[in-house]
Amino acid sequence: MSTEDLLQFDRDHLWHPYTSTTQPLPVYPVASASGVRFTLADGRELIDGMSSWWCAVHGYSHPKIVAAIREQGERMAHIMFGGITHQPAVELGRLLVELSPEPLDKVFLCDSGSVSVEVALKMALQFQQAAGRPKKHRLLTVRGGYHGDTYHAMSVCDPVTGMHTLFEGSLPSQFFAPRPNCRFHETWDPTDLDAVRTILEENHEEIAAFIIEPIVQGAGGMWFYHPEYLRGLRRICDQYQILLIFDEIATGFGRTGKLFAAEHAGTSPDIMCVGKAITGGTMTLAATLATTEVATTISNAPPGVFMHGPTFMGNPLACHVGCASIKLLLENNWQQRVETISAQLQRELEPAHELFNVADVRVLGAIGVIETKEPVDMAVMQRFFVEQGVWIRPFGRMLYVMPPFIIEPEDLSRLTSALIQAADMV
Ligand SMILES: *Cc1c(COP(=O)(O)O)cnc(C)c1O
Repeated sequence: MSTEDLLQFDRDHLWHPYTSTTQPLPVYPVASASGVRFTLADGRELIDGMSSWWCAVHGYSHPKIVAAIREQGERMAHIMFGGITHQPAVELGRLLVELSPEPLDKVFLCDSGSVSVEVALKMALQFQQAAGRPKKHRLLTVRGGYHGDTYHAMSVCDPVTGMHTLFEGSLPSQFFAPRPNCRFHETWDPTDLDAVRTILEENHEEIAAFIIEPIVQGAGGMWFYHPEYLRGLRRICDQYQILLIFDEIATGFGRTGKLFAAEHAGTSPDIMCVGKAITGGTMTLAATLATTEVATTISNAPPGVFMHGPTFMGNPLACHVGCASIKLLLENNWQQRVETISAQLQRELEPAHELFNVADVRVLGAIGVIETKEPVDMAVMQRFFVEQGVWIRPFGRMLYVMPPFIIEPEDLSRLTSALIQAADMV
């Protein structure tokens, strides 16, 4: 098939994320990917600044990951998880239990981030019901969040960017506190939690759980907030018998400089979602972790089971690749790498502060953000970045990178210099 035919079919038949079929934005045909680079169909090479949306922490086609796919593909790519178990699921479960904050001891394996959020929310509701508090069936979260695109996950996304009005009437209505205002590196401002306290004083009898992305709000605005917010949240939730859910789907596996972002706050949730980087960006896989208390309470009340069970639950291929990816991360000095990337991002993005169009510059772990004053034209910017030989995909007023952890300094400089030029163009 020629590239022209491929693009024509794509235009005529395929949806892309958040796109129109009548006015499609340009898409770039990719032929292959290796390390931090991918190759377009016309032979041009791009340096990846996105890690395919937080996932590809080891870059692409890492030999150990490819070997894991091959091994498990030949042994057993899939088998049902009802009434059956296997080594890849057990081994992955063990890694997750060992590495996640205490006391998260129970693991529900599922197929994508949004599903793991649905599972977390259902667990919270089933838990409150089992604990004899059936009136607690709504959720509290903060504005500016992103938790996925399925229905209940969408209900706790930011109401504006999540387009809640579009689905009014069928979307469950939840409680929203303001976005945490105090920045990660600022002095803590205790009034940041006042709104949460007020909402809970008035509505705690209805609220089952508080769900939040710890430290970094990702797709909702690339915002880094103060760890003390999470510690305070933990205390308030306990006070009102509200479960705390951390959505670590974007932050998990090292991106913020800690293996899990919750570690910045030294606190731990009752339920935690992980996904994205769990397989190093190769297979779709996610998990919901819960405390023994949550699991036991659910299991000791009618109907005596947790009501969820996806077809591809515990998929052995994905689990085996997940194990390989996590081991690779641990072997490869990830923390040092993320710190080095962080320092370089800080240094090289700093000059953007001076630019007229720039509202803010912030760096945390291997995430570098330039926030512009005006929204960027994504199609124009995308073309510009491709011409510069880099893959950076901005949204709204966010020009940002979150490169694979294996990126070398020269390649990272190509990304930061493209970002700065772009910020100057907005
Ligand atoms: C991406 C993301 C999700 C949704 O995950 P999918 O795999 O896209 O369904 C949920 N929460 C957060 C914080 C995310 O970044």
